[in-house]
Amino acid sequence: MPPPRRTRLAPSPTGALHLGNARTFFINWLLARQNGWEIALRIEDLDGPRIKRGAAEQAVEDLAWLGIDWDEGPVWQSNRMEPYRSAIARLVEIGHVYPCVCTRSEVDRSASAPHAEDGGAVYPGTCRGRYASATAAREATGRAPAMRFAVGDGGAGFDDGFAGRVEMEVAERLGDFVVAKADGTPAYQLAVVVDDAEMGITDVVRGDDLLDSTARQMLLYTALGWGDRIPRFTHLPLVVGADGRRLAKRHGDTRLATYRAAGVGPGAILNRLATWSGMEKIAAATRATDFMGRFDLARLPRGPIVADAAALAELDGGRS
Ligand code: GLU
Repeated sequence: MPPPRRTRLAPSPTGALHLGNARTFFINWLLARQNGWEIALRIEDLDGPRIKRGAAEQAVEDLAWLGIDWDEGPVWQSNRMEPYRSAIARLVEIGHVYPCVCTRSEVDRSASAPHAEDGGAVYPGTCRGRYASATAAREATGRAPAMRFAVGDGGAGFDDGFAGRVEMEVAERLGDFVVAKADGTPAYQLAVVVDDAEMGITDVVRGDDLLDSTARQMLLYTALGWGDRIPRFTHLPLVVGADGRRLAKRHGDTRLATYRAAGVGPGAILNRLATWSGMEKIAAATRATDFMGRFDLARLPRGPIVADAAALAELDGGRS
């Protein structure tokens, strides 16, 4: 028998679980449970300054409150520095990364290229080939260098489970990207690839704001010699506010913990998430399992889902 497929739920404790990311987790969970995949829970807590105290524990509690369960974890990225360091060392060894002493504002100023989709400027390659080693870079500039992955002229392509064929010109659109920050912390792109590869993740389901990241991650898999471990990706259209921007604080307080404190039950939340995921409401729903067998990727709306004021007010009405 082939080993079971595995996916992961990977909250970042940089903020609370709200209706937008809860919907992504709900769909990920349904796809897994409907297809017999295993689920690992991974807390992506490497982004030091942006981590909010207690947010990870709260996310775990919120997921459980919805009836979303998992088979392994929580695994904390902050407890797994060793495998990240050795992957970075491997990239240094094969000459696929280089030290970079540019600050973010220098990168922004020097970029004549258009800004990449994720809000950052395309790195113009200032430090590429400039320093023989991280030590040399530090000695020459007095600055602690980050390590940047040289993408070469590579593009990346993959067949997405929802978006279809995706082809991305990584060099042109995104540029060389950071795999280790100046303080030595592994960057998201690197940590996620190491984790997904080591945890045997076969299926990644996440928001389509990460399509650009997937392209970068494909290059990392290949460079690390893990081409055979690249998971199948399914990128979901996000929930946006009436202004077309990704659902966030500016659209009101949609944190699960807030609804919960106000007496809104998990059934009302799940029904809201369900209607944003191409499913019918279930009047008597109380747990995620009530929706088992009802999710169908083919019925997921193709574009962003708008969380209009009426939909949000309906839940606010439940706060009594
Ligand atoms: N931790 C990321 C987030 O919450 C998800 C990363 C991923 O799925 O690869 O946005």
